[in-house]
Parts: sequence; C-alpha cells; structure tokens
Amino acid sequence: MSEFRYNKLTRKWVLFSPNRAKRPVEVCQQDKSVQTENLESCPFETGREHMTPDELLRIGDKDHWRVRVVPNLYHALSIDDELISHKYQSFEVKSGFGAHEVIIETPDHTKQMYHFTLDEFVDYFTAIKLRIENLKKDTRLQYFSLFKNCGNNAGATLDHSHTQLIAMPFIPNKIKEDLEFYRKHKEETQRDFFDDLIYDEQRFKKGLLFENNSFIAFCPYASTFPFEVLVVAQEPICSIIECESVQIYALSEIMEFLFKNLHKALGEFSFNLLIKNGDMNHPDNPNRLHLQILPRLTGVAGFELESDIFINTILPELAAKVLK
Ligand SMILES: [Zn+2]
Repeated sequence: MSEFRYNKLTRKWVLFSPNRAKRPVEVCQQDKSVQTENLESCPFETGREHMTPDELLRIGDKDHWRVRVVPNLYHALSIDDELISHKYQSFEVKSGFGAHEVIIETPDHTKQMYHFTLDEFVDYFTAIKLRIENLKKDTRLQYFSLFKNCGNNAGATLDHSHTQLIAMPFIPNKIKEDLEFYRKHKEETQRDFFDDLIYDEQRFKKGLLFENNSFIAFCPYASTFPFEVLVVAQEPICSIIECESVQIYALSEIMEFLFKNLHKALGEFSFNLLIKNGDMNHPDNPNRLHLQILPRLTGVAGFELESDIFINTILPELAAKVLK
C-alpha cells in the first residue's frame, strides 16, 4: 500500500511506495564506494601533501596527520575574487567571491566514514569547528555550507574520504525560507520548531535510533530517502561552532553508532551528509544544529524533479528496525 507522508522539516510530501522496491535493479543496487585503483594518483595521501594547495589546518603531526584542511584545487568560489554585485542588462550578477575548502578526514585511502572510530569523529568535527571560526573573521562571508558526497550515487569524484566547505557572501534563499519558517513557528506557538519535531518523533517512537544528553537520532516519519537519518541537537545550539567539547563528543558518539549500523545494514553505500548550521553570524537565529545522513540507494528521476515529491520505497519504521 502506498501513502503520502508530510515532512515537517522540508515542508514537502513524500510518496512511500514499498511496491516499487520489488522492481528489479532498484534498492540494494550497491555501487562500490571505494575504488582502490585511484590510490596511485590520490592527492590526499600522506607523503603527497605537495599535491594539494597549502594546508589551512592540520590535526596531528606534519608527517602523521589525522585530519587536514586545504583549499579546493577546483574551487567553485575563491577568496581572492573581489566581492562585487552588479546588473548585466536586466540580470543580477555577483562575483565568485567566497571560500571552497576540503576537509581530508583521514590519511587512510581505504577508510570511509562508516569505518570511523569515535576519536576520528571528534577530530573531524573539531577541524570543521576550527575552520569555520577562522573563516567567520571575514565579515563578508555570510553562510557556510558543509556537505559530504561519498560514492558514485552521491556525486563524489574522489574516493578518499573528504567533506567540503563552501563559504558564501550571502544566505541562500532556501536557508532564508527555513529560518523564516522556524521563526514563524516560534511566534505562533511559543515553542521551538525542533523541540516539537523531537516531541513528535518521540511520540511516534518507531523511528528512534539513539539519544544522549546533547543529540537525538531518528529515521524521520516522512524520510525523503530510504534509510535517511536525522540527528538533532537537543539543546538550543544553532551551529557547530557553539558546540563545546562535551557536545562534540556526544555528536561523535551518535555518528559512530549510526554509521556502524548503516554499514552493517547496507554494506558499502553512497551517501550525502549535510551539516545544517543556519545563520552563524546571528547566534540568536532560530536554527537548531542538525545533520542529515542521506543514503543514495536510488536515483533522483523525472517525477522528483517535476513534482518535487520524492518516492521512498522503504518506510522509516522498517529502516529504524534494521538500524537498531
Ligand atoms: Zn587517498
């Protein structure tokens, strides 16, 4: 039986159609995320530091680093460009000012996030926090997009585990709409949107995966993707830079648990990880730090692009059962 479910966070309907999973070559078509043949030319290896632009941050020793952050060699935006907005005829144009960095999460080419230990997650989030703290000093930068593509289905072009950070001179419209939605919710209900979302999921129960003092993880009631996981801060923390070491530890503990179990359930799998920080220049903004783990087992096709409604073949309560 198919059904539409409304996703309160994305404010979009999702069509659940378990029947479509029965199609041949649908779900469980694993793409190999790690292709070791690229090892020989990989610029992220220990000893090949000269192949990347100059290091912006390192955790660990020069020869035995654990995490490195470097500018993206094929950057979409550059800090060397001037920040200019102008009109071309009746069109609006902005220069490509900004920053595009790569967080090399591990020196180990064969290691993916689903192999990470708790300490490796702590290093990872610490590096991200330190980089944003540094970038934030440039007041022209307004928004920090943090995302990870792992595997072919998720748009990754390099196998070596890495995350990208794009710092932009303006807040994207989508993010502005999200912040406005959270603000309105608070105004109308006197409650925080994310507190309500957590309350709803706790009452539903069937999607809950893991909870500690600082974060809660669940397969959302109206997951857009099969095996999607949402991790939400339980405290009013707007962004990663507000996390103290105790919260970074709590987040790492949850991530280690989630990725270990996703790996057990899915094997090597493609995924996107989005770290949603809201507006970091205004700490009173109504965002709550949340992370979306989006396994990419199925493609995005015409129906999704045309209607903006995603078809999900696996109910979140079933995914949660497997992941627990
Ligand atoms: Zn490598």
